[in-house]
Amino acid sequence: MKQEADPKQLKDKIRSKMEIQISQSKPVNVKQKTLVTCTVCYEIVEQNDIIEFDGASHDICNSCFVEYLTTQINNNKVLSNE
Ligand SMILES: [Zn+2]
Repeated sequence: MKQEADPKQLKDKIRSKMEIQISQSKPVNVKQKTLVTCTVCYEIVEQNDIIEFDGASHDICNSCFVEYLTTQINNNKVLSNE
């Protein structure tokens, strides 16, 4: 029986080659994340999760912003019902 290139062996070969490359490669350059303190809950969150609110005078995190909006909507509802 003629031994053709065994897919499993080939896979192992490629994998071991890749592992060598990975171990030799420099650590992946992790993108520097800017951390910002939310002015509402004082949680330290990533800049990405910060909503520039009121002309960027307040750094407010996503969850606080949602809460703020919910409060606003609820307040408006209450007011409009009166
Ligand atoms: Zn917050």
